[in-house]
Amino acid sequence: MARELLAGWGRTAPTSADVCRPPSNAAALAALAAAPARGVIARGMGRSYGDAAQNAGGMVISTAALSGIGWADEASGLVRAAGGASLGDVLGFLVPQGWVLPVVPGTRHVSVGGAVAGDVHGKNHEVDGSFAGHVVALTLATPGGARRVTPGDDPDLFWATAGGLGLTGLVLEATLRAVRVESASVRVVTRRAGGIDGVMAALDAGHGRHRYAVAWLDGLARGAALGRGLVSWGDHAGVADLPAARRAEPLALGPARSVAVPAWWPGSPMPVPAVAALNELRFCRGPDVETTSVEPLDRFLFPLDAVDGWNRLYGRAGFVQYQFVVPFSAGDVVARSLDRLRAVGCPPLLAVLKRLGTADAGPLSFPMPGWTLAVDFPASLAGLASVLDELDELVAGAGGRVYLAKDARMRPELLAVMYPELDRWRARQRAVDPGGVLRSDLSRRLGLLGTIAGAG
Ligand SMILES: Cc1cc2nc3c(=O)[nH]c(=O)nc-3n(C[C@H](O)[C@H](O)[C@H](O)COP(=O)(O)OP(=O)(O)OC[C@H]3O[C@@H](n4cnc5c(N)ncnc54)[C@H](O)[C@@H]3O)c2cc1C
Repeated sequence: MARELLAGWGRTAPTSADVCRPPSNAAALAALAAAPARGVIARGMGRSYGDAAQNAGGMVISTAALSGIGWADEASGLVRAAGGASLGDVLGFLVPQGWVLPVVPGTRHVSVGGAVAGDVHGKNHEVDGSFAGHVVALTLATPGGARRVTPGDDPDLFWATAGGLGLTGLVLEATLRAVRVESASVRVVTRRAGGIDGVMAALDAGHGRHRYAVAWLDGLARGAALGRGLVSWGDHAGVADLPAARRAEPLALGPARSVAVPAWWPGSPMPVPAVAALNELRFCRGPDVETTSVEPLDRFLFPLDAVDGWNRLYGRAGFVQYQFVVPFSAGDVVARSLDRLRAVGCPPLLAVLKRLGTADAGPLSFPMPGWTLAVDFPASLAGLASVLDELDELVAGAGGRVYLAKDARMRPELLAVMYPELDRWRARQRAVDPGGVLRSDLSRRLGLLGTIAGAG
């Protein structure tokens, strides 16, 4: 065990903790049992943007050495994966055999435990729901020992763990339901839309026609072009959709190609005019009528993985990703947010809009039916903190919520408004961790655990 400085993907609030990397489930259970007074939290691949996988002055259990993937039941597509296995590795196991995980987030560099703890969603939430909906069973290391948890046998603990940000225990293993695919490619339809209303209308019109749907927005566009963007829809390609050269080996995953941000990258964020020029280029190269192409699965699902360490492009001070969801009836909040951000001189450098579908039973799970907007800003931007506080109020007032796995700065007052089932979650959390062993920087900052003895 060594004391290490840890930060989330946004690199905004590093703190140090004693980090242990247990090589086995038994060692992970022993580490949990030896938690210090300041508590313990699990850490997967550190892709949550804020402080969810940090525990200042306490212990952090890294699942990096808890790997291993195999069939639980091949005929029905049930795959068993260790909590520390990456979703990229799970796909590397499944895809060549004609299977895929039904739900993945926008990067392959997420652990199975982190995907459960964030109850992550993909570009297909309206069709397939979120990650926990495809989890058949978990092996959870709790302060009281290891237990098998299924949505049928212990729905309260299962759903408190889905989206529970590691605060009900450490996922040692998960059994996941995979779905059949014919190829390792996606048939993608793309078109551009000249403003936020056009983008939302295009996503509405595509509803129910495709499995995946997402829009990239040019957050720096202004005036009538505010929120212009490229809308993409995708479906798993059949063999007949593939170019002739790829039909012989339709399930072959190409090598995961990426370039790295160079070591000499300056400590300041990318200059706004350079990002504006790249956005202009990207938008103008987009087709203005629906155009179909066939793309490798990973390029479509994980476009940001093409650049290793892209979080360093925002400079030494790091960056904030702000993601909210508002009900469809409050869709105007999307345009109002973009407008407000631009008006106060905080236009996002990256912005992504999606539709979300039916919520699952997780009290802290983020998705609910509505529009979700994710926007990235350099953390050093003047005025950012106060405009995001203002947007929190707008989102909460509209019946929406902020995504906790991406949060680094929200104030605790709005938590119970955004997550009305918080007390139900707290009751289950306390039952599994009566001694208050499981804690994180995020749980302390947001007062997530309520006022129990020792939760400070
Ligand atoms: C480029 C990029 C794109 C993304 N796209 C999406 C997206 O499209 N949709 C989406 O929903 N999210 C998305 N995310 C967020 C990401 O999927 C989640 O934050 C996820 O939880 C990160 O997993 P991790 O393994 O990195 O966990 P960490 O960041 O290490 O930890 C996150 C939380 O999970 C807990 N945790 C980790 N491992 C375990 C375990 N074994 N048992 C119990 N708890 C554990 C931690 O305690 C912490 O609370 C994206 C992130 C990035 C960087």
